[in-house]
Amino acid sequence: MVTTGAHLTRKMVWNLLSEIPDPDIPVISITELGIVRDVEVLQDDKIVVTLTPSYSGCPAMQLFKEDIKAVLRQYGAKEVEVKIIHSPAWTTDWLSKEAKEKMRKHGIAPPEDWCGTAVKLFGDAKRKITCPHCGKQDTKLTSQFGSTPCKALWFCNGCNQPFEYFKCY
Ligand SMILES: [Zn+2]
Repeated sequence: MVTTGAHLTRKMVWNLLSEIPDPDIPVISITELGIVRDVEVLQDDKIVVTLTPSYSGCPAMQLFKEDIKAVLRQYGAKEVEVKIIHSPAWTTDWLSKEAKEKMRKHGIAPPEDWCGTAVKLFGDAKRKITCPHCGKQDTKLTSQFGSTPCKALWFCNGCNQPFEYFKCY
């Protein structure tokens, strides 16, 4: 039981985690990315955070773990355990609407709404991606891999600008 304001509550932990940026897309937090699955506050200020990794090779889980531990300890957690669960697997469906909107404002095209099972299995290279700069769909894939493996490089013929697309997964 958390009885005094000096102790971390589940909600406080959740709020603190929502301040930690995704190393891959710093404009969104790890809670907006949807990888934080659960937060438990146990006796003696022990915190257990459960994460599901996103793309393999995308955000570094080890880095995440250390960030989370450091932040929670700074706010009074005595012990922090970070558990990793792989099932159910993370999907871009877990990205919040707010996260997608933030990506678009940052010039990264978020996964499109048609992102579904077939696309996940067979890829989305032949689909049209909406340009985050001008909103046109006159776009073409230029490279399957952008600055990180989870993003592809696209080019918009409408506004003549390249952009990154966060692949459907
Ligand atoms: Zn454009």
